[in-house]
Amino acid sequence: MDLTFQPILDKPAGRPIYIAGPCSAETEEQVLETARGLAGHQVDLFRAGIWKPRTRPGSFEGVGTVGLSWLKRVKEETGLKVTTEVAKADHVYEAIKYGIDVLWIGARTTVNPFSVQEIADAIRGLDIPVLIKNPINPDLSLWIGAIERIYKAGVRRIGVIHRGFSFHGETMYRNVPRWQIAIDLKRRFPDLVMICDNSHICGRRDILLDVAQRALDLNYDGLMTEVHPDPDNAWSDAAQQITPEQYHDLIKQLVYRLPTTDDIQFLETLDHLRQEIDDIDNEILNLMGKRMELADKIGLYKKRNNISILQTDRWNEIMERNLAKGRLQGLSDAFVEAILRAIHQESINHQASVMNEKTAGIEDEA
Ligand code: PEP
Ligand code: MN
Repeated sequence: MDLTFQPILDKPAGRPIYIAGPCSAETEEQVLETARGLAGHQVDLFRAGIWKPRTRPGSFEGVGTVGLSWLKRVKEETGLKVTTEVAKADHVYEAIKYGIDVLWIGARTTVNPFSVQEIADAIRGLDIPVLIKNPINPDLSLWIGAIERIYKAGVRRIGVIHRGFSFHGETMYRNVPRWQIAIDLKRRFPDLVMICDNSHICGRRDILLDVAQRALDLNYDGLMTEVHPDPDNAWSDAAQQITPEQYHDLIKQLVYRLPTTDDIQFLETLDHLRQEIDDIDNEILNLMGKRMELADKIGLYKKRNNISILQTDRWNEIMERNLAKGRLQGLSDAFVEAILRAIHQESINHQASVMNEKTAGIEDEA
């Protein structure tokens, strides 16, 4: 599908879009206090969850429709535009009734095409911007599918929110960013507004700034951050929320670099450096081709002498030696290991085709 999008809001000049507000609307006071703390600063959209999709029943599931009237007051009192999460058709109808400016679809909803379709059908014919969070699992097609469903309902003011992906295992993040997935989406749809939800990626306060800066360095269009007047006592996501003051401080520390410039000298230097990178990429590919020719030769040689493809000792030795060399070059172990595995796999494929053998079993091991 060839899709063209329109901006979700008037893009502020010379800076990203800032979306901020509490994870959940808890009380009218808490909502208004947060909004008052944010209004008058660089905040383009006030967020608050009214219906909260919780992993387990029994945790705070949101105040429901009454919270919409609090958001209406936020608009009236502060002039801030407001957004909330919708997960069902009824949520859409209620939100519209109360004048919500932008809807967002949460990560647990994006995974479910039935739910996304229900929302799309409810939105059909309404002129309201929609932000679509990435699905909790790292599945770009599912994310694109949700965008297409909302698009087909006639909505053109669509944006996406990158909030990271579930990960089973030790990580410093609550949801691992997997930046490449969001970058692939942006490459596919360059005019799609891309917001980084640093709060849900981090799940903690101390790395919010780093992740926000990374997003801006990757040319994201904006940030969504959870802000609460008393974060430690928030009814949901307490560990990742910050006060309005801490939020303003964070925004102040961000460096916003322009995506492009007209400065000829800068462009020429950049062009030159890119040319060098292209040359190196070419060289790497040539060398890879040569390496595979050697693999073919070895394959033939092993075949003649009736020796199996995989020789674990040699593989371990290559890995150890190159990890050590990589460290000297400032390359991470993870990177060197990933490259070596890919090269080794390709080598095995070459040897296998030369030896004309079945490779099942060996490929997994490599
Ligand atoms: C939220 O924004 O508070 C939320 C529930 O986020 P997500 O859908 O990204 O988990
Ligand atoms: Mn939250």
